[in-house]
Amino acid sequence: MENPQTSIHDFDLNLICEYFAGLERQGPGSPESTIKALSFIDNFSNELKIADLGCGTGGQTIVLAQNTTGNIIGVDRCPVFIDIFNSNAKKLNLQDRMKGIVCSMDNLPFQNGEFDLIWSEGAIANIGFEKGLNYWKDFLKKNGYIAVTYESWFTNERPTEIEKWWLDAVPEIGTIGQNILIMQKAGYVPVAAFTLPENCWIDNYFIPQKVRQEEFLRKYAGNKTVEDFIGFMRREAELYSKYKQNYGYVFYIGKKI
Ligand code: SAH
Repeated sequence: MENPQTSIHDFDLNLICEYFAGLERQGPGSPESTIKALSFIDNFSNELKIADLGCGTGGQTIVLAQNTTGNIIGVDRCPVFIDIFNSNAKKLNLQDRMKGIVCSMDNLPFQNGEFDLIWSEGAIANIGFEKGLNYWKDFLKKNGYIAVTYESWFTNERPTEIEKWWLDAVPEIGTIGQNILIMQKAGYVPVAAFTLPENCWIDNYFIPQKVRQEEFLRKYAGNKTVEDFIGFMRREAELYSKYKQNYGYVFYIGKKI
């Protein structure tokens, strides 16, 4: 079923959005990791203004809303995610404090110095780590914080199979040390960096996808593109279990100078 040459960039965005709309999260993460990252951020005011870029359906945004005061704007380019985001906010009676908008993270409708905190889990690779840190910084107040998770190498050397996979998905992927340097050069004081534990990938990302994959294959029985896409997602999970000592997501927290 699966073609090892296939790239995530080959699949239609609507297909990817439909698949992930049926899941609570669209990337690895956990409430515990979001709360841990929040613990490095001080000077909380009640008026705190937060942007969550690439928010997806809002898995981590809800955790942010429940563990801070202030207002959060979620931004995602997938309209179906934003619909779910806003209806979840309403269900939890958080609609006055979290609002999702459809927008691209590289063309934001915000003002300079508007935010105390910019959050982004599993999404900055879409604009590029360096470009995102530089562009988003303008929207932060002085001494404002940024907290992002980003795919990172844990080792200097990697087997070719996994090296090729990630160079295709995230061409500028680097080591933790390199990423901290990029953050510093972009004009932030690196405050903390920690790796996401395995449960963020396995329990919260790969395992929930198994049921979704069966549903999707039933719904689109005989559709070769869908079969290739599911093959691709399954390969991502297999590669993680094979090479998880070489890479993972790292939370990078920085303070704008
Ligand atoms: N933060 C969520 C989703 C991570 S998946 C979570 O951790 O569960 C990455 C998200 O970024 C997806 O929701 C995708 O639609 C969004 N995205 C990708 N490129 C984007 C862009 N250019 N502008 C806005 N959102 C984008």
